[in-house]
Formats: sequence, structure tokens, C-alpha cells
Amino acid sequence: MLFLEFSRCCEEIENLSGRLDMIDVIGRVLPGLSPEELPVFVRFIMGKIFPDWSAQKLGIGPSLLYEAVGYVAGIKKDAVIVKINKTGDVGVAVEELLSKKSQISLSHQDLEIVDVYNKLISIAARGGATSQKEKVRMVQLLLGDASPLEGRYLARIMLEELRIGVGEGSVREAIATAFSVDSALVEHAMQAINDLGEVARLARIGQDALRDVRITLFHPVRMMLAQQGSIPGMVQEHGEVAAEFKYDGSRFQFHKKGNAGKMYSRRLEDVSGALPDVIGLLLASTDHDVILDGEVIATKDGRPMPFQSVLRRFRRRHDIAEAQEAITLVPNVFDILYIDGVTLIDLPFTDRRKRLVEMVTRQYVAPQVVSADTQVIGRTYRDALAAGHEGIMLKVPGSPYTPGQRGKNWIKIKPEVDTLDLAVIGAEWGEGKRAHVFGSFLVACQDQGKLIPLSRVATGFSDEQLAEVHDLLKDTVISSAGKEVRFEPELVFEVGYAELQVSPTYEAGFALRFPRFIRLRDDKDTTEIETLDSIKDRYQRQSKSAQAYRK
Ligand code: AMP
Repeated sequence: MLFLEFSRCCEEIENLSGRLDMIDVIGRVLPGLSPEELPVFVRFIMGKIFPDWSAQKLGIGPSLLYEAVGYVAGIKKDAVIVKINKTGDVGVAVEELLSKKSQISLSHQDLEIVDVYNKLISIAARGGATSQKEKVRMVQLLLGDASPLEGRYLARIMLEELRIGVGEGSVREAIATAFSVDSALVEHAMQAINDLGEVARLARIGQDALRDVRITLFHPVRMMLAQQGSIPGMVQEHGEVAAEFKYDGSRFQFHKKGNAGKMYSRRLEDVSGALPDVIGLLLASTDHDVILDGEVIATKDGRPMPFQSVLRRFRRRHDIAEAQEAITLVPNVFDILYIDGVTLIDLPFTDRRKRLVEMVTRQYVAPQVVSADTQVIGRTYRDALAAGHEGIMLKVPGSPYTPGQRGKNWIKIKPEVDTLDLAVIGAEWGEGKRAHVFGSFLVACQDQGKLIPLSRVATGFSDEQLAEVHDLLKDTVISSAGKEVRFEPELVFEVGYAELQVSPTYEAGFALRFPRFIRLRDDKDTTEIETLDSIKDRYQRQSKSAQAYRK
């Protein structure tokens, strides 16, 4: 498939509004692709380059991309930024700039999607000190071969932000229709292997190939997530439930084969380098090849320490030994997804738990209380808080492990705290001694896959935190006007507030009273932020409790 055909397909989809129409367009393309093209197309159409299990990054931020675009279009990087500000979209700006270029030189080479993919892989593979320059050079060559329309989508893919509204659900359905396979099997295979490109390749082979997928060691599986709920609600619905402490640390997934072990973070990044001590403990905890799911906490004199201490260790690249001495990390394992070649995610939780207890040293397995008595569970909750944990998790004993889903089978119970996890989409430069960093931030919630501005946050930051946040954001600026900048949304803040109010100031229709930065949630990505629906829900609950108080 030519990259030009792919670009035309994107253009067609971009002009559609109905989801079913999108599924139809994609479903018609898939059967005509070769086995090599199929996974590439599937990832590209979702704005991805790498499989979801891979933490590999292209390493081209907006700043490098603009530099390369400027070179190809024969203008300065600043002029590229002006153009992007004017069009409001990187893709459209690149398209317009390349169309001027092609009036001068019309000689581009036909690009195949597999060529583009291979070139992107070699760009990603460049590391080391001189790599930035080399990367820019490679992007220049690639863009130099692109027609204006191709440039539009190439630029967006390089930022892994295609913006044509195609989500994983639509592609799953398109795969099911295109290859006449059961959509539940497509979803099942995706849960196990976490790469829709590969799932499409299997779907083409047939239903059995999808049914037989196995989790692969060292390809991390998405983490199962939790919803909010209540103890009586869970007991009423399910009778007996399993209660565990909710540890306030960092989620991990541990993969072990023989003597080799790796740790992955909640965002599926390989954090093994930073955690040799935890890997050592877990390697020694079982003789089997396993995948374990758990939470690692930091402790001092037997009591849990704040979550930040753990995150600091996860991020650590240097002086690991020194950091180990300062903070003791303890893994708490609460699930097992794989043993010795067998995938366990479809088994009921009770069965997985039985194996976990049999296979892994008890010391690292999170204790559990199984009961249908709200009093007993209430006591566990109080014990958890007294021991310095965040609360408890209630789990449905008969439920499978559903990777990546925030279902009703895991419910978190913790004291009501008024904080929201929100994406950072813009900022304003600071003033006075803070003029070299961003001073106030525009944060957004999500609704149907779109980011909706909700509030500004300007307080709660220390000078170190502002410097750290500036460092993380400076290469993701996509546009600027005066003191205002907009970012490619990547970073998540936990924001505290006193009250939710209805307000027309921001698009979300709500405003936060006394918004305050609490902490950086760099274990979360922007797909995991608060939804507009849950904010509406909070507002309802808040107004109900206010009414109850007034009565
Ligand atoms: P939240 O981040 O508030 O959505 O809560 C869910 C998170 O709690 C999970 O992603 C885990 O990182 C963490 N957690 C702590 N203890 C447990 C546990 N026993 N079972 C499952 N998740 C846990």
C-alpha cells in the first residue's frame, strides 16, 4: 500500500462523522493488505507506530519536527511555528508548507507504508549524544519524499497524534467485519497480546489463531483498573467479595523467565534498571516462569512512605545503589497472569489467587480477607487506614483479569478526597523570578476521547516542581501566542480543589474552586484522566451532600 493511499484513507475518514462509516472504510481496506502491511496500517490508522506493549518512542518531539519541516520547506523553524499557530494544526501546516515546496521541486519518491514504518523504526533506534541531529536529518529525508497530503499525516504520526477520531474499538470492529471473525475473540486476543496490528494479522489467519493467543513473556499486558464504589454496594451485588489493602505506591508487572526478570510500570515502560532490588526479591520468590501484578511501596520502619518516594525510585536512572539505601521498596503481589507457558487471565480470580499463593513466597503476596459481611470488610478498611494504606480494594471472586479495563470487578474504597487527575494542555509563562518557567497551567478532562479544558492551576508548586514540570513540557510545545503556550497533551497532574462549580469560563462547563497542584502523575497517561461524566457525577454528589447539610 502506498503511503499516499493511506493518507487518502485518513482524509476520507477525517471528513466522516459517523463511527459506523469509519468502521466501514477501514473494514474495506484491511482484506486487500499484505501480511506485512496489515499490522502497520492498523497501528498507523490509530496514530501509533509501535505495538501497545512496547514502550519504544520515536523520540521526535514537536521541536525537532518543526526544525525538520522548516528545513524541507526552506524556512526558519520560527516561521513553521507561526504557520502552526495560524492553522491551529501541525498536519495542516505541514501540508500547506510542503505544497509551496512542491511547486519548486516535484520529484518525490513513492512511499510505501512499510517503507515509512521501517524508516520510523530506524529513527527510533538512533540513540546517544549525536542522535538528535541524525534524527532530524532522517525526518528531513522522509518529509522530502512526501507529497503535501502525505506530509499532513506523516507529521501527525510522528507526534503519535493522528486526530482522525479512530479509536481502538472502531478498529477492533473493522477487523471483525473484514475477516468475518467474532469481535469478542478480537477483544480477547487484544487483551492477551496488546498489539492490535498483530491481532489483525491473526484474524486474517482465522478464529482459531485468535482463540489460541498466549501472553508472551516480556511483552507487558495492560493493567486491569478499578472503579469507585461502596462496601454495601459490592456485598449486595456479589455476596462474598475479596478485600485487600489498597497500597499507595506504584503499580508494577513483573515478568520472569528462568533467572531473568523485568519490571514494567503502569504505563508499560521497562523500569527494570531502576529497581534491581525488587527484581531480586521477586526472582527469588518463585521457581516458575510467571507474570505477576502488584504494587510496590516504599517503607521506613515497617510503615508505608508517601507515594512520591516510590515514583522517584521508578524514575531513577543514576545512583541506583545510593537510592536503594535511602528507601526500602517492598512488592505486594495481588494477581498472577501467566505460569510456565499457560495464560491465566480467563480464569476466575479465586483460581488465580490459589495459584499465586501456591507459587509465590507468601511474604510478598498481598493478604486477603474474603467475606460477605460488611462489618468484617469495614474492619479491614479501618485496619488498612490505621496501617497507613490508602484504603481497600474489593474484588469479585469469580471475575477474569480484564487488561486495560476499568470495570466493576475491582472497586476501590478510600476516604473521599477532592482531587482530579487532569491532562496539562497549555500554560502561561511565569513572572518575575519565575519568568523562565511556566507559571500557570491549563488542565483538561476527557469526553469521548476528546480533551476538554476545565481549569487553570497556578498554586501548590514549589520552585523545584515548576522547574521539573518545565523540563518535562518544554519540548512538547505545539503553539504559542504571547505568554500563552499549548502542549501536545502528555503530562497528567493530580489537582486538588475545594468545590466544583458550574461555570461558562471553560468548555467543560465547570470550574474548580481553589485549584491546587498536588502531584505529578507520571505513572498515568492522558487516556486515564477524569472523564466529564464522572465530574458531572461528582458535582451531583457534592450538591446532594450540600443539600443534606442545609436540611
Ligand atoms: P487508582 O489509581 O486510584 O485508580 O486506584 C487503582 C490503583 O490502586 C491500581 O492501579 C494499583 O496501582 C493500586 N493498588 C493498590 N493496591 C491494590 C490492590 N490490592 N489491588 C489492585 N490495585 C491496587
